[in-house]
Amino acid sequence: MPTLEPVPAFEDNYIWTVHDGRSALLVDPGEAKAILTWLATRRMQPAAVLLTHRHADHVGGVAEIRRRHPGIAVYGPADARLPDVTVAVGEGDVVVALGMRFHVLAVPGHTLEHIAYVGHGWLFCGDTMFSCGCGKVFEGSSDLLHASLQRLAALPTDTLVCCAHEYTLDNIRFALTVEPDNAALLDWREHALALRRAGRPTLPTRLADELACNPFLRCAEPALQRRLAGPRGGGGFVDAAATFAVLRSLKDAFG
Ligand SMILES: [Zn+2]
Repeated sequence: MPTLEPVPAFEDNYIWTVHDGRSALLVDPGEAKAILTWLATRRMQPAAVLLTHRHADHVGGVAEIRRRHPGIAVYGPADARLPDVTVAVGEGDVVVALGMRFHVLAVPGHTLEHIAYVGHGWLFCGDTMFSCGCGKVFEGSSDLLHASLQRLAALPTDTLVCCAHEYTLDNIRFALTVEPDNAALLDWREHALALRRAGRPTLPTRLADELACNPFLRCAEPALQRRLAGPRGGGGFVDAAATFAVLRSLKDAFG
């Protein structure tokens, strides 16, 4: 059974790896040095690269990895702004690498070309979903991001969500402003605090836990809708997509 392991990069990124002890898949290697050092100390070779979207902190290391390992397959969105992609993939495609199969989902919203990879109980979702949060809307609309998150929310609940940033504690602080009495969220805060105090990642997170804690996946909850209807709708009822839009703008203002 392959092993899942996050490699920290920059301030708060994770480069996710899946390896068999000899070769590793690298997801969003934004920084070459961090991942090449990690590979060298474990005497492993990169088997393939999977990219979710074009932001530099996700793709910045790919050119150097290709220089060191010519011929390596780089899977990613079909987008001219991703010149290092050697195998363009999109909705419905299957990536076969290291003897594993990953299904590709189009999840536009953070950026338009954003894709996610699902397989073996793991979801590599880039900047679409974080624990208790989601990506900012840089392109498209909040409706588009909401729809993408709804697709991810419908995956099997035991899916392990491999988010690309360690934003969990900040996101929990925000989530508690909109769901202060959410018992699952309060429990997750304690657990996440303990993990960070021990120097450990809070990720991956289980989809079932995100469904209980992540307000961006909970926009159909009547209590959350009622709470967020105030600033936008004068206290009236809003639907899940409108609730999501209010939530996203509140988070943007929160920081
Ligand atoms: Zn991004």
